[in-house]
Amino acid sequence: MNPIEYIYLLLIGQRKINYEDHSNVRLLFSNIYSLIASVIILGYGVANLLEGFILTAFLEIVSGVILFILFLFGRFSREFDMFIWIKIGVVIALMLYAFLTGGSQGTGFLWIYAFPVAIFAISSSFIGLFSTLFFFSLLGLFYFFNILGFLQLPYEREEIKTFFLSVSVVTLIVYIYKVLQENSFSALDAQRKQLEIAKLNFDAELTQKKDTEKELEESLSKLKEQNELLNNTKTAMLNLLEDVNKEKQKSQEQAADLKKFEETVENASDHIVFTDVEGKILYANSAVSKTTGYDRKDIIGKTPRLWGGQMSPDFYKEFWNTIKVKKQTYKGELTNRRKNGELYTAEVQAFPVLDESGQVKFFVGIERDITKAKEVDKLKSEFVSVASHQLRTPATGVKWYAELILEGKAGKLTKKQKEYITEMYQSNERMLALINDLLNVSRIETGSKFEIQFSSVDIIDLVKNMVQEINKLASEKDVKVIMVKPQIKKLLVEIDKEKIFQVIKNLIDNGVKYSPSKSKVMVEVQDNQDQFIISVKDTGIGIPKDQSERIFEKFFRADNVLKAETDGTGLGLYIVKAIVEGHYGKVWFESNEDKGTTFFVSLPKKHISKENRVIQA
Ligand code: ADP
Repeated sequence: MNPIEYIYLLLIGQRKINYEDHSNVRLLFSNIYSLIASVIILGYGVANLLEGFILTAFLEIVSGVILFILFLFGRFSREFDMFIWIKIGVVIALMLYAFLTGGSQGTGFLWIYAFPVAIFAISSSFIGLFSTLFFFSLLGLFYFFNILGFLQLPYEREEIKTFFLSVSVVTLIVYIYKVLQENSFSALDAQRKQLEIAKLNFDAELTQKKDTEKELEESLSKLKEQNELLNNTKTAMLNLLEDVNKEKQKSQEQAADLKKFEETVENASDHIVFTDVEGKILYANSAVSKTTGYDRKDIIGKTPRLWGGQMSPDFYKEFWNTIKVKKQTYKGELTNRRKNGELYTAEVQAFPVLDESGQVKFFVGIERDITKAKEVDKLKSEFVSVASHQLRTPATGVKWYAELILEGKAGKLTKKQKEYITEMYQSNERMLALINDLLNVSRIETGSKFEIQFSSVDIIDLVKNMVQEINKLASEKDVKVIMVKPQIKKLLVEIDKEKIFQVIKNLIDNGVKYSPSKSKVMVEVQDNQDQFIISVKDTGIGIPKDQSERIFEKFFRADNVLKAETDGTGLGLYIVKAIVEGHYGKVWFESNEDKGTTFFVSLPKKHISKENRVIQA
């Protein structure tokens, strides 16, 4: 910073030069004027004081001090307009004093010349002009007073005129300069204002831009967040999609399984129907149409009565009671009628499908048309029947002749001959037993001649006699059959004596046959309200658990007896069951392998219908 700049800043009390702010220039002029004027006037004051012009010196020192104070105000307040009128007043007063007195050493005129410069320096053109005119009017007034002779002036009149003219010219010049300066200042101001406005606008734009930038940044970060969210959602969706795909695949597999299942059901040879709870058919496979002869469209929505209804009301009551009330599986045989009126026999299996709460959802009915199989069976049975009949006659012939020979009717036999004929007789007996069994089976199956003829029998007496008979015949095995002492002496029951005899005999024979020698077979008759129970207990080889269900099947013989190679046909228990059930009774057993078996037969004491009954398997 150069010294001039330093002084400039010192005078205006600023730290930095701002050339654009021209108010500083006015402040500078105003302060310079106040300072210089105060210094000069104080100087004059001191000089006049030394020369003994006390009054003049006093006025000058007071004016000088006031001007210096005004300088200080201007310097520190940095307001050039401050106390402007005081400054102007002091200047006017000083000038008037200089004019009137002629100034120190007759320099009054010179002082007056300084007036316009000083005034315009410290004020604006307008205030300067106004103040100058006011000053000139005062001067004119004094001049007028001088002409009138009231006032003594230290100048010649000519001098005053010249003075007025020259001062007016100086004033005019200074005024013009001032006006020009002010115009240029105001132009500069306007420019500066415009610049400021432009700057403001620019600033505003900048802030706006910044705001926009900020908003953009915010939007960007929001977008980023949203993007992230979208990405997360996308990942979640992809996962979901994967799950959905898996599920889809699963359900497709299930659907394929279901389809296979459906195809299997659809193409099954057995007739299958699904019905609702009321028995209305919801689904029927193709076999239903084949067996019944009805079109599928005629079947759906109907009940199986469409081809059924051929059995007794009791049968259907029992059927519905089993599947709907007891919610169990019904198994049985029944007769139905095809669309063409033809009757057919069906093996039926019907069961309910339950929901979680145990309520019936729907029923499934499976039927198998066994008409043909039955016919074949019947043919077989008839064949067996015919064959057995045919066989029985010669076998009976052999039996008689063997008996005659053994009785010695054909002459005395040697020991060897007797032995062989006895063997022959026993083999023939076994064959006859088999033929009888076969005949019974064929009778049961054809239902033709296996009639149960009820009559009143003392069952205790019957069993007692039978046990005695069996014990009389020498058993190869040395097994004793014992009847447990009954609680009552007599028990009259309505049964087919011969057939029940056959039942009990069969059970005792089995007990003896499947027991070790020297063991006992216990037979007991028990009275049980409207039933009576006959039990046959042995300590023999027992029945294997896994085969116990098949024991009453035709020709079935358990593995353990097959190994022991004991004689037998597997027909005895089949016939037993048929006879017992023909009596509306029940047969069952309890057995432990290698420990023994007990067979139970429970029969009603009284025959219900009093009519004879034909047994049919
Ligand atoms: P089988 O002529 O073979 O005795 P059954 O019909 O009388 O024919 O009996 C069928 C099967 O039941 C027998 O082969 C045997 O396996 C079994 N069985 C019957 N009774 C007994 C019993 N008391 N002890 C052990 N097994 C028996």
